Amino acid sequence: MFTTTLFANNHFVKSKITQAELKLYFSSDIARVTSFSLPSEEGTTKYVFDIHGATLPALKGISSHTFRTIKSFRIAQNSPEKIRVVIVSKQKHLNKYHAFSGKLLAIPLIDGQKATIKGSENNTSNTTSYSSRNKKYIVVIDAGHGGKDNGASCDNNREKNIVLSVAQKLKKKLIAKGYSVYMTRDDDSFVKLPKRTEFANNKKADIFVSIHANAAPSINLYNGFKGIEIYYLSPAKTQRAKDAAAKENDVMFKGKDYYTKNAYLSLISREKIIESHKLGIDVSHNMLSNIRTHFGKVENAGVKPANFWVLVGAQMPAILVEVGYITNPQEGENLKNAYYRTLLAEGISDGIEHYLKNK
Ligand SMILES: [Zn+2]
Repeated sequence: MFTTTLFANNHFVKSKITQAELKLYFSSDIARVTSFSLPSEEGTTKYVFDIHGATLPALKGISSHTFRTIKSFRIAQNSPEKIRVVIVSKQKHLNKYHAFSGKLLAIPLIDGQKATIKGSENNTSNTTSYSSRNKKYIVVIDAGHGGKDNGASCDNNREKNIVLSVAQKLKKKLIAKGYSVYMTRDDDSFVKLPKRTEFANNKKADIFVSIHANAAPSINLYNGFKGIEIYYLSPAKTQRAKDAAAKENDVMFKGKDYYTKNAYLSLISREKIIESHKLGIDVSHNMLSNIRTHFGKVENAGVKPANFWVLVGAQMPAILVEVGYITNPQEGENLKNAYYRTLLAEGISDGIEHYLKNK
């Protein structure tokens, strides 16, 4: 009875997978975790972790998680005072390495990897104050193209659909962190380029992120052109940056042109270029590390200056994220995968957070 009284209020709050670890967050300090493993079907191993003195709120689960070495994740109330996590893995020695501290339990999903628990992470009681601190920041997410403008397309893979999906996932991630988020489009509708930054300016956004997917200029370059690229508004230097800008600017030139080509460049302040560049570096770094943890090698195509019309006129740090080449066989396939798009969104969200924290 003593345990019940003491720990009745410790309940499972949320879980996530980062850095190849399953992280489970609780409302109070974790008292005790025990674990064991047993062989399971088809050469897999079942790892069982019991979190003592904890309860599982209705509707909370972990079965939606996916990871390449793991067959399934489950969490259940095993007894009135114990939550049981069951992980079925293709690897052998996972449960030797889990660790808990404060409100966080970390379970590595790869053999031989020790759990990492950073001091700042194990305190979910900070969530409330942290969220309210983030609330002062406003992020405008711009899903590229839409409606009559498909953007790039390859084998039924349409840029406008891919980027809307990433944008919607990003919106969820940022809202969960406590930011105020607005979308220039939240469905398959056409929005003129100047309207997108005008919208961000009206919302007094702190950050403008435009999301796009790239395409190689010709079929003989489908294999060679790949990677995640981030652009910030500045005079374009490389041919590849000019090509990318030309492609994304296309729809602008078809419509009425609001800006003359060189006038705007003199209007961009040096400070905004530097801030946008910094934001781009943080987003790039977080996207790549997040993707590589789960999908192996993904090309870093860099953080580059370019003159994208959609960034013109934004009064806040603004970047354009090219989430990959839909014309590249591997990346095109990855971009069709919802989990891959979730990881992209998570990386962008973490990058934005990192940038704002260090501002
Ligand atoms: Zn685009």
